[in-house]
Amino acid sequence: MKCPYCFALNCESDAVCGGCRRPLAPVRRAAAKAAAVAQTPQWAYLFSVLCGIIPVVTLGGLLPAILGFGGAGACLTVARASSVPTAVRLLACVGITALCWVLLAVLVTALFPTPYWQNLSSALRRLLASA
Ligand SMILES: [Zn+2]
Repeated sequence: MKCPYCFALNCESDAVCGGCRRPLAPVRRAAAKAAAVAQTPQWAYLFSVLCGIIPVVTLGGLLPAILGFGGAGACLTVARASSVPTAVRLLACVGITALCWVLLAVLVTALFPTPYWQNLSSALRRLLASA
């Protein structure tokens, strides 16, 4: 592998660069991370977006942002775990996305107490009755 500092060519087994004597372990970790990001399966972005739109749907807010970005990050991390079978990763992403939306529903229900829903449902019934 090529050293990013001095561009000396090193063996895969070298612990330090032969040119500048810098340790190569952090360089290898960064290269592995970049390779994992580059090999992200395309379906992972669907779940990432499904989680990421939570702060958009709720028009902002700290808790929805934590839910949305946390879920999106978790989906991408799970999808990039190449040691786990694809079906398991896919199911985990479905589960993470569903959990994020259930938690959002719990949050909305907690923030807007029952009278709000009763008013909304009675308004909907009146609207349907008049139609
Ligand atoms: Zn070097």
